[in-house]
Amino acid sequence: MTETVLVVPGDGIGQEVVPAAVEVLEAVADFEFVEADAGDHVKVETGEALPEETYRRATEADATLFGAAGESAADVILPLREAVGSFANVRPARAYPGVDALRPETDLVFVRENTEGVYSGIESEIADGVTTLTRVITDDASRRIADYGFEYAAENGYDDVTVAHKANVMRTTDGQFLESVRSVGDERGAEYDEALMDALAMLLLLRPEEYGVVICPNLAGDMLSDLAAGLVGGLGLLPSANVGPENALFEPVHGSAPDIAGEGVANPAATILSAAMLLEHLEYADEAATVREAVESVLADGPRTPDLGGSASTEDVTAAVVDRL
Ligand code: ATP
Repeated sequence: MTETVLVVPGDGIGQEVVPAAVEVLEAVADFEFVEADAGDHVKVETGEALPEETYRRATEADATLFGAAGESAADVILPLREAVGSFANVRPARAYPGVDALRPETDLVFVRENTEGVYSGIESEIADGVTTLTRVITDDASRRIADYGFEYAAENGYDDVTVAHKANVMRTTDGQFLESVRSVGDERGAEYDEALMDALAMLLLLRPEEYGVVICPNLAGDMLSDLAAGLVGGLGLLPSANVGPENALFEPVHGSAPDIAGEGVANPAATILSAAMLLEHLEYADEAATVREAVESVLADGPRTPDLGGSASTEDVTAAVVDRL
């Protein structure tokens, strides 16, 4: 069976790094690629950032590779995540030899709940200048993310699992999160630690080597994983997966980077590593490992794009990765 991969480059450097990742995928697997459009440039032309056709294709494809959307990010990526039924946002943050990292010993994976919390979209202005936000935390979603996180840690050889929360202040919502995660942890006989999310931000910065998989509510996962990007050498290196029960969407953690878009110097590593996660999801484990090793080898020996102190172009780096496959 030939799997269908939907390719949505989107805006800015998405147009540069997604084709780079597709080139790598083409070199290791025989997928059928279907391209679809989304983002600011589509909104300018049609008034809507996410065409219905793109949404539908994401529901039908075996996996989606997404680049970035600029101003319209929320109108594009939130529905696309919903299209694939995503409940877990998986963000590995690893330091690589050869890359100047603040904490070279970092090897973290954030498993972030991404259907509810403060991103549930329930906001109102109840009076002039007075606004509210409803934070939704359910037992179902919390148990589901806990189960995924513990399973991910076991399958990928991570001994340290930490559950981030702020149940001392958000007693009802994070109280629920913690209770649900604890019950899953107990059922599985899993070993894990609990940490207040604000203290954890500091501890990850000081001693990242003491942590592995971090299971988080939505906003905490978003922020802590960006912090981890700073530990490992920047946004150009962080891949991510939005995982649903069957379907999934893969994207770099970075955005459209309008400051460098069109210059041909965007680092394609985050998107190529996202493509490696896509390969793994479609059960091409050997090919995924090959791609990761090729990226690691290029990061170690060069060529490197300007964000990593080099002067190579996106194309140079991509060609070097393909060369090493
Ligand atoms: P958006 O509004 O789409 O999120 P942004 O510029 O606010 O765009 P990012 O795209 O995440 O946010 O970029 C933040 C910074 O990191 C920018 O200076 C950008 O140039 C840099 N950056 C992000 N991704 C890459 C990459 N792949 N290669 C090189 N630099 C990058």
